[in-house]
Amino acid sequence: MEISQPLDELEWIPRPKVLALRRLGLETADDLLAHYPRRYEDRHQFPEFPREESDTPICLCGEVTKTRILRFGGWKKIFEATLQEANAHVLSQPLTLRWFNLHYVQKMIATGQQLVVFGKPKLRGKRLCMDHPEFEVIEHDDEMSIHFRRITPIYPATEGLSQRVLRSIIHRLLVDLSDELLEALAPASLVQGDRRKAIHAIHFPESWAARDKAREYLVLSEFFAMQLLIASRRAESSARMGESHCGRGKLLDKFLAGLPFELTAAQRKVIEEIRRDLASSHPMNRLLQGDVGSGKTVVAIATILLAVEAGFQTALMAPTQILAEQHYAVLRRWLEPLGVRMSIQTAARQEESGPLPLFADGESLGNARVSRATRAQDDTPNIIIGTHALLYDTVSFSNLGLVVIDEQHKFGVAQRALLTAREPAPDALVMTATPIPRTLTMTVYGDLDVSIIDEMPRNRGKIITAARDESKLGEVLAFLRKQLEAGRQAYVIYPLIDESEKLDVKAAAKEYEEWRERLHPYRCELLHGRIPAPEKQDIMERFRRGETKALISTTVIEVGVDVPNAAVMLIENAERFGLAQLHQLRGRIGRGEHKSYCILLSTDKSPETDAKLAVLEKTSDGFEVAEADWDMRGPGDLLGTAQSGLPGLKIGNLKRDAQLMREARAAAMSTLAADPRLELPENQRFRRLIVEQQGRTFSHVS
Ligand code: ADP
Ligand code: MG
Repeated sequence: MEISQPLDELEWIPRPKVLALRRLGLETADDLLAHYPRRYEDRHQFPEFPREESDTPICLCGEVTKTRILRFGGWKKIFEATLQEANAHVLSQPLTLRWFNLHYVQKMIATGQQLVVFGKPKLRGKRLCMDHPEFEVIEHDDEMSIHFRRITPIYPATEGLSQRVLRSIIHRLLVDLSDELLEALAPASLVQGDRRKAIHAIHFPESWAARDKAREYLVLSEFFAMQLLIASRRAESSARMGESHCGRGKLLDKFLAGLPFELTAAQRKVIEEIRRDLASSHPMNRLLQGDVGSGKTVVAIATILLAVEAGFQTALMAPTQILAEQHYAVLRRWLEPLGVRMSIQTAARQEESGPLPLFADGESLGNARVSRATRAQDDTPNIIIGTHALLYDTVSFSNLGLVVIDEQHKFGVAQRALLTAREPAPDALVMTATPIPRTLTMTVYGDLDVSIIDEMPRNRGKIITAARDESKLGEVLAFLRKQLEAGRQAYVIYPLIDESEKLDVKAAAKEYEEWRERLHPYRCELLHGRIPAPEKQDIMERFRRGETKALISTTVIEVGVDVPNAAVMLIENAERFGLAQLHQLRGRIGRGEHKSYCILLSTDKSPETDAKLAVLEKTSDGFEVAEADWDMRGPGDLLGTAQSGLPGLKIGNLKRDAQLMREARAAAMSTLAADPRLELPENQRFRRLIVEQQGRTFSHVS
């Protein structure tokens, strides 16, 4: 058999199991072999049963001596099994295993069985209990040696596929592959040894040391593939034909002179970096990172003006209609007096501002591109602002020289590529608040140049963040009303994690009614994604003008929205949001001179929630939040495939394995330096690796 063989061609895997494997996303033998254990149990010898509770889970083995079902609260059920250790003596204490409302468990466990269990022993009254342990029934058959008396792999599993079955299938696959020599997918300078052995040892290690060695091999291979993909993308984009898109800067100077504030040093620095890129005939591919509220929009406008002055059309894309409209309004206010024409293009509407002549004072551009600029003047806008709608063919760009993407982490790489895929290549500036830690930037955005705004504008009111139990809503309300009385405005974010989640309009309306009563007589309005676009726009406008005092909203306002007088944010069910998202949401306040308050209400008292909310109470620095987020979540979750354009990691850990990442990166660079187009016979495998990954990442992007 071959490693790429589809699983449904393997007759010995029962059909229902093939379907279950598919649910785990496993289609080929290769996929299955890369379905790495999530943990291991050393089943050579089990420890004695504990006498005390413990916060770390332990693995035990024993015999079921009794089972029973208890009912409580009408229909609720507890299934209990008593587990006795082998060689029990007078002082041994049995362990009670408990499952609440899990009907299938009682069908699987019976008196007399031998079980391996994994969980935390806790004292409940006088009994030592393990609630909802993972378990495996020992069956005495010829497969014993696969499952016991060894370091046993425990896999991410799914319904209809027990650990035992999954383990047996993987074991059989490894046996069948034993004669095959698998090609190493990283250069010999990076990994030593044989890939087949590494795969074998990661599933069925002979020792912990063997497991560690195998893991290192596989992590290095995985990181190498990733770095090769990044490096090849970078090479590809720098090989593209571009042109210079930089005006002299007169328009920019005029704009800056009219601004009601001075740029921060950081803003000036990044504008200079961008300016150099624009002037170069190489296509710019730059990421602008800056915390929420650090003033990225002004930098975007500066960039746009340089390109417009050079006679090019520019596009500014934002992920939500609300944000696109806001940009349109801000740019019109600041740029129409300078004679810049713009239009907006969202799914909801198309509009052109103007008709104003380009450069109202009729000043000569003194630039070789005058003819182009005047051509642009007749009918085409200098700036096209929009949402995803900009990606469709219906938008006709003419002489597009610059693309700016705001909140780029809300877009997929494929979408970004769509806007810039034309000849000659436009310059691209993508902007983001910092959803990832700084140390990761090189990894994830290795194909981009990075500029960082590491300074906040002065005269910003402080944001005070406090986590409160939902039961304190009364006090919180009193506080909120006081703030409204003082003239501030507020956001109330109600718990709907994601706008894409089906929004129950009725529930939203009910929520709104409650808030109206609570905040009476201050005027509230309701905002969510299902409200028709023009109306949404009016609601935002009334809030911006201060007619509406409180906006009861879903996360539609999560990114970009800028209303400086809004100084209070109340987030309900804060436990349901991720740290990065809470930080983004909180970024809507603290944008003016007023002291701002973010109150995180939660009902959940788990230590995880406490820890999460405590991070926000402690810091308002986005980089610190990102670091903490990284520590708390599995780093695998950190990069969405669609966003980063990188395949998800199956084994590597971006934090723990940072050193391995550096090694893999160096190896990828030197491989490409020696053979830039991967033409050497021994590099064909790497070329295939890139193609394969491209396919996988782009197929994820909707
Ligand atoms: P973000 O980086 O989150 O996109 P914005 O560009 O929306 O931030 O800027 C936030 C607010 O700060 C806006 O109201 C903007 O006008 C203002 N701002 C930007 N730069 C400065 C500055 N240098 N000094 C004072 N205020 C500024
Ligand atoms: Mg912004």
